[in-house]
Amino acid sequence: MRKNDVYWWSDAPLIALPPKPVPAAADVVIVGAGYTGLAAAIRLARAGRSVQVFDRQRPGEGASTRNGGITSGNLRPGHAELAKRFGEDRAAAILAEAKAAREDLYRFIAEERIDCDFALTGRFSGASAPGDYDRLARDAEALNRTFGIEAYAVPRGEQRSVLGTDFYHGGVVRMDIGGLHPAKFHAGLLRLALAAGAAVHGETPVQAIRSEGDGHEVATARGTIRAHDVIVGVNGYADASDRWLRRRLVPVRSRMIATAPLSANLMGELMPRRMMCSETRRLHYYYRPSPDGERILFGGRDGTIAGDPDWPTENLRRALVDIFPVLDGAEITHSWYGHVAMNRDMVPRIFSRRGLRYAAGYCGSGVVWARWAGEKAAKQILGEESGRSALDFRPPRAVPLFAGKAWFMPAVFAWLTLQDRLARRKSSRAS
Ligand SMILES: Cc1cc2nc3c(=O)[nH]c(=O)nc-3n(C[C@H](O)[C@H](O)[C@H](O)COP(=O)(O)OP(=O)(O)OC[C@H]3O[C@@H](n4cnc5c(N)ncnc54)[C@H](O)[C@@H]3O)c2cc1C
Repeated sequence: MRKNDVYWWSDAPLIALPPKPVPAAADVVIVGAGYTGLAAAIRLARAGRSVQVFDRQRPGEGASTRNGGITSGNLRPGHAELAKRFGEDRAAAILAEAKAAREDLYRFIAEERIDCDFALTGRFSGASAPGDYDRLARDAEALNRTFGIEAYAVPRGEQRSVLGTDFYHGGVVRMDIGGLHPAKFHAGLLRLALAAGAAVHGETPVQAIRSEGDGHEVATARGTIRAHDVIVGVNGYADASDRWLRRRLVPVRSRMIATAPLSANLMGELMPRRMMCSETRRLHYYYRPSPDGERILFGGRDGTIAGDPDWPTENLRRALVDIFPVLDGAEITHSWYGHVAMNRDMVPRIFSRRGLRYAAGYCGSGVVWARWAGEKAAKQILGEESGRSALDFRPPRAVPLFAGKAWFMPAVFAWLTLQDRLARRKSSRAS
């Protein structure tokens, strides 16, 4: 197995752009060349603004070329929790925006002709406990009723028509979620940003931003640039150059593994409808077929914060085999990880501080949210009415005792793993 080898990069390698001089001034500087930064750049450059994008790695080397490509647009808190925290109207607006953001992504991919293997396959969510099935079924009904989304429950007895496992206590399918090739999608955004006239500087960290008067002085590793506006789209890769942000976004490792190609028969048995998959465990796993339908790509939280030990890969492999026992012994060819960003209330957000605009906190669901929030941030700079968003919030609160290194993650990971094991034991005793 090749470790820290991103499966997606074999089809869509990272692009190292030739270094360009950093100009003295621009209308807008964007920090981060993932989905957030590039979506903002496309919008602004098309509106005639001069745009300079900086990334400390190669463009896309953050999460945007490493993810599962599942177009979930998930929100961690459900409707009731959102309503409790933000009021009924705001909760309804946030949920409506999730639907709009998903649909807008599909429109964008089609209209911009982004070749990224997108397929609206539907997504199956497996109930890890019998009680979860009832809740999922009620949620599916509500999705139908409120948003007209095609969603339906699949009882355990019919589960194998959707997913070749008896691991779950049934589940639900929703047809508004699909999958894309994340690195090809990123390459498409990069192409559009460059074509619109934005300059993208890879391997050029932003080291400090000083706001003064009606602008900002942005110090980069290759020169200082003045900008009227700045958008920060660094999500799980916030670094010490912005200590304030770093105390608000918790980077969590998410890891994926890829099986070697499986026979067409076996894939047909395990994933007959080629759907994206998720589940209700607290430390949930997400998985999907590769776009060519030959492999299973399987992901989950990693639980480490330093180095690259082997156990998270083995952990994932075992979780895969729990769901599909027939894969015990199947070769794992790739294993890689990236960072997602959590914030205290687990809702993606667009916010401002000292004239800088931030879009972040997608909590592992940025394929839909990051592009959407980046574009919203750009529209806000352009003064467009459609830039308003239900994700416009105050900055996230700082996380107590946290200054950028998620030292508590291993303990959180162990605790959630234990909870899931106990819940599983309880539900298998009951059934
Ligand atoms: C393994 C994995 C699986 C995932 N699966 C899914 C999925 O199936 N569906 C889904 O919706 N989401 C998924 N996600 C989440 C999704 O990938 C992210 O939410 C999304 O890519 C965030 O995009 P972004 O542009 O905000 O951040 P990123 O793509 O992470 O880009 C941020 C960039 O900021 C740069 N940066 C940081 N600091 C500086 C600085 N000082 N100067 C210059 N540049 C800087 C970094 O180098 C980085 O490239 C997954 C993530 C991972 C890691």
